[in-house]
Amino acid sequence: MAASEESLRKALAEKQSAVEAHGNAVRALKAAKASKPEIDAAIEALNSLKLEKSSIEKQLQAAVSGSDGDGALSREAFRQAAVNTLERRLFYIPSFKIYRGVAGLYDYGPPGCAVKSNVLAFWRQHFVLEENMLEVDCPCVTPEVVLKASGHVDKFTDLMVKDEKTGTCYRADHLLKDFCNEKLQKDLTISAEKAAELKHVLATLDDLSAEALGAKIKEYGITAPDTKNPLSDPYPFNLMFQTSIGPSGLSPGYMRPETAQGIFVNFKDLYYYNGNKLPFAAAQIGQAFRNEISPRQGLLRVREFTLAEIEHFVDPEDKSHPKYSEVVDLEFLMFPREEQMSGQSAKKIRLGDAVSKGTVNNETLGYFIGRVYLFLTRLGIDKDRLRFRQHLANEMAHYAADCWDAEIECSYGWIECVGIADRSAYDLRAHSEHHVKNVFDEGQRDGNIDFIGTNLDKSGVPLVAAEKFSEPREVEKLVIAPVKKELGLAFKGSQKNVVEALEAMNEKEALEMKAALESKGEVEFYVCTLGKNVPIKKNMVSISKEKKKEHQRVFTPSVIEPSFGIGRIIYCLFEHSFYTRPSKAGDEQLNVFRFPPLVAPIKCTVFPLVQNQQYEDVAKVISKSLTTAGISHKIDITGTSIGKRYARTDELGVPFAITVDSTKDVTIRERDSKLQVRVSVEEAALVVKSVTDGLRTWEDVWEKYPHHTSGSADD
Ligand code: AMP
Repeated sequence: MAASEESLRKALAEKQSAVEAHGNAVRALKAAKASKPEIDAAIEALNSLKLEKSSIEKQLQAAVSGSDGDGALSREAFRQAAVNTLERRLFYIPSFKIYRGVAGLYDYGPPGCAVKSNVLAFWRQHFVLEENMLEVDCPCVTPEVVLKASGHVDKFTDLMVKDEKTGTCYRADHLLKDFCNEKLQKDLTISAEKAAELKHVLATLDDLSAEALGAKIKEYGITAPDTKNPLSDPYPFNLMFQTSIGPSGLSPGYMRPETAQGIFVNFKDLYYYNGNKLPFAAAQIGQAFRNEISPRQGLLRVREFTLAEIEHFVDPEDKSHPKYSEVVDLEFLMFPREEQMSGQSAKKIRLGDAVSKGTVNNETLGYFIGRVYLFLTRLGIDKDRLRFRQHLANEMAHYAADCWDAEIECSYGWIECVGIADRSAYDLRAHSEHHVKNVFDEGQRDGNIDFIGTNLDKSGVPLVAAEKFSEPREVEKLVIAPVKKELGLAFKGSQKNVVEALEAMNEKEALEMKAALESKGEVEFYVCTLGKNVPIKKNMVSISKEKKKEHQRVFTPSVIEPSFGIGRIIYCLFEHSFYTRPSKAGDEQLNVFRFPPLVAPIKCTVFPLVQNQQYEDVAKVISKSLTTAGISHKIDITGTSIGKRYARTDELGVPFAITVDSTKDVTIRERDSKLQVRVSVEEAALVVKSVTDGLRTWEDVWEKYPHHTSGSADD
């Protein structure tokens, strides 16, 4: 907890006791019929204590809400103003609105679609083009076998609680989170110790098991928010939308919960396409579907959303990155695990230091963290409200080497917008597990594989890479040779299952079996395809280590995965870009989105200053040149006052307005500064294009062209 907040809580508790003690003293004086001056003096002292207490309360309120006393309220008011503008100008619309909508489903309207396509175009340029990534586009409908292998069928769950009387469902961790936040922000009477405990619960929320979460919900007396009814114990709910493929209903499938699996199952072909070389990255942009338990927070938690995912495949023994030096000196807010556990806040850290100290696991992960930082800030995300938070140990999947989330602060708090994870070799192994034995037969066993037995649900295709040696190397290899004749006699029809299970043992298991067979002559061995133990005798398998010459090293690549929630990024961008400013007359607040030209839905408007055929003709000529230059724009010849036209386009975040007030040259106005320059009709479109393409800045334009100073009708 921040020292000031902790000391304020302590000071408030002390002041509260002093107020109570003084209140009692005043009552005692009155009961004892003390003299009036004596009672008045005591009351005065009590009043000044109450004033001091209220001043501490205000400071504490400011400290917990991170602003000026009523910060929570102003955050709410800010969001309301932004969301009203976004919905009124059709940036997004609740889907199926005329049928009262469906929670967690939204449409993008025209400016929203334009922003989204600009964000995606920049994503392709910043990642796919920059790294020569291999882009793919796979179906949303996915057969069950794929998502069974990836672990989603069994484990893609959130913990849910039900209102015991009405059956309404809630996400258990969200209820606990809301309870802790509300207590911390609204109940100023809680002790410093209690506040520290609640903050610890918040910091470790993702670590809690169903049992621990249920216990906390009971301990804090949390009930159903809508009815105050008791809640059930938390239990897992699978978030995937189930479907069946084809008319028979016999082929189960799901709407994909992420795009990544489409890339993993194509690994073998992509690796070949890449000339059998590592590292390389594949990328995919597409819809993902998650049946969220109780979606809220607008675009931030929805049931269908666009994901942009990168799977960077790398040799687990060499996670360096050739372009790491380009990001090494970036400095931004990072929130490592230790800082979170000890209640500190995020700090500015040089990326190179975080990697060299081992806080970030490896260079490639660090490289992508740096690239994500550049991507988000170039889009217009405020760098002071962007942090990279490391996953806590239990928050990460057991196989992951390290994970960082790019979190963006908006009126809803810090929101995970991009997950950047080193998932080690998990995903590729999960889809090729069954084939391991075949690779092993050829003496190419991946030394890291630790699967037990075999699983016939797997693809059977080895998703591995190979490093060819310039000179053959002599290595010691484990050889497992099941004696099929003995196994056939002993297990008859099950012989094949036993053989496969023996062959699929990893080195550790095989050596343990060898030792046990040598000492006891027989061991119990679990064959998962039979679902039982079988007795293995010494004459049924030979396990030995042999020296072999190898020409290559075969291994399962590690995967480093940056995964971008496009809707979340766009919503945070909307909030970070939104502001209001007074109209010229000062009688109303006008809404503005300060989108950088790169993401602005419309780059430019063209207005004749007054309704006049000659000016309209010039406006049409400029509009044509803008179209030819590929600049999205809007021409407005309605004759509405220029101030109103500016206000309308500021609300859409249009960065430039060309006003035609002569047939030779025109003015170009920049949205935020409202400054104007004069440019010839012929040049107008090219000037706008050069700035929107990022070839020069508005400052360059301001320096080069004459300034337009006449009091135009702006505002
Ligand atoms: P995950 O696979 O859960 O790490 O999610 C990857 C990214 O998808 C996250 O960083 C979010 O930006 C985004 N995301 C996850 N769930 C949702 C959702 N329900 N609505 C919108 N975006 C989401």
